[in-house]
Amino acid sequence: DTSLSPRVKSLKSSKTMVISDLAATLVQSGVPVVRLAAGEPDFDTPKIIAEAGINAIRDGFTRYSLNAGITELREAICRKLKEENGLSYAPDQILVSNGAKQSLLQAVLAVCSPGDEVIIPAPYWVSYTEQARLADATPVIIPTKISDNFLLDPKVLESKLTEKSRLLILCSPSNPTGSVYPKSLLEEIALIIAKHPRLMVLSDEIYEHIIYAPATHTSFASLPDMYDRTLTVNGFSKAFAMTGWRLGYLAGPKHIVAACSKLQGQVSSGASSISQKAGVAALGLGKAGGETVAEMVKAYRERRDFLVKSFREMEGVKISEPQGAFYLFIDFSAYYGSEAEGFGLINDSSSLALYFLDKFQVAVVPGDAFGDDSCIRISYATSLDVLRVAVEKIRKALEPLR
Ligand code: PLP
Repeated sequence: DTSLSPRVKSLKSSKTMVISDLAATLVQSGVPVVRLAAGEPDFDTPKIIAEAGINAIRDGFTRYSLNAGITELREAICRKLKEENGLSYAPDQILVSNGAKQSLLQAVLAVCSPGDEVIIPAPYWVSYTEQARLADATPVIIPTKISDNFLLDPKVLESKLTEKSRLLILCSPSNPTGSVYPKSLLEEIALIIAKHPRLMVLSDEIYEHIIYAPATHTSFASLPDMYDRTLTVNGFSKAFAMTGWRLGYLAGPKHIVAACSKLQGQVSSGASSISQKAGVAALGLGKAGGETVAEMVKAYRERRDFLVKSFREMEGVKISEPQGAFYLFIDFSAYYGSEAEGFGLINDSSSLALYFLDKFQVAVVPGDAFGDDSCIRISYATSLDVLRVAVEKIRKALEPLR
C-alpha cells in the first residue's frame, strides 16, 4: 500500500494487544476464557486516589494543565524521587505525560538521531524496539539467559557497544520476566556506561513498587556518575492500579527534559488535569504507596509463589523465579516439535499460545513478542482462583504433547 508512510508500514502492532483482542472476541461470542495476557492490575484504583480525581472534576479542575504537568504533582514527584530513590531533581527536571509509554517514546525521540543504536536486552517490553524504529534508530538486541535470571551480562553488553550506541534501555523490575537487577550488577553496567560518553541509559522503573523482598530496587541514576547519563521513567499505572488514568513521568537532565517537553507540546500537551490530581493523592499514600500498595503486592506475591511452585512441578518446563512485577516468563521449548491432536504442529511460542487459547481457552502472550521464542508470558494480575484453573488447564494441555 503506497498510501501509507514507510514509518507506519514498518511498525509492528503491539502483540500483547493482538492476543488480548483475540481473547476478548472469544469472550464476546460467549466462550469463557482464562485471561492471562494483559499487563494490567486486576485491582480497582484505590478509593482515596479515585476520590481525588472525582473531586478535581467537582471543583472544576478540568482545564488544560501546564504542558510539563501541574506544579503540585511535579513537586510531589521530586519529593518521591528524593526520599525513595536518593535522587535530587527540581520540578523543571520532571515531565508528566499521558502514561509512561509516552514518556519513553519522547525520550527516545529526543536523544536518538537516525542511525543511532538503541541497546535493548531481550526479553524486552514490546514497545522499546518499535519506539527506537520510530526515531529512525536501530534496535540492537542483546539476548539474556534464563539461567542468568534473564539479566544482562555486562561483558556481552560491552562487546556490543560502538560509537553509534546512544541509548541502553533497562527495565527493572522487568516486563516480561519479573527479573530485578541487583545493585551490584547495575554498578558493573554503570562502569561500562562511564567509558562511553555518548551512551545514555533510559531506565524504565514503572514496576518499582511491585517487588518481593529480599529483592530491592535501585534507581540507575543514583549510581556514581550516572545522574547526568540517565533518564528515569516511572508512572502510576501498575503500582497504583491506574492504567486507565494515563499518567507517567520522566526525570532527567534539564536540557533533555526540556526537549521532551517541547515534543509533548506539539503532540498532546499536558496530561489530564483530573488524573494529575489523582496522581498527587497516590504519592500522598506514603513511601512506596504505603499500606494500600503493600496489600496489592502481598497478593501478587502469593500468586507468584503459587505459580512458581506449580510450574516447577511440571515436566520439561523451565522458569526463573520472578522478583518483581506480575509476570512469569516460562520456557516451554521442550514441547516444541510436538503434534497436538486436532490442532497441528507446535513448533514455536506463537503456535503454543494459539493452542492454549484454541483448545483450552487460556490466553497467554507468546515470548516471540518479547524477543524470546522459547517462552510464554503469563500475567498473574488475576485472582488465585483463576490461576488455579489456568494451571490445571495448562497441565492438561501439555499432557498429550509429551
Ligand atoms: N513500561 C513497561 C515495562 C510496561 O510494562 C508498561 C505497560 O505495560 C509501560 C511502560 C507503560 O505504562 P503506562 O500505562 O504508564 O503507559
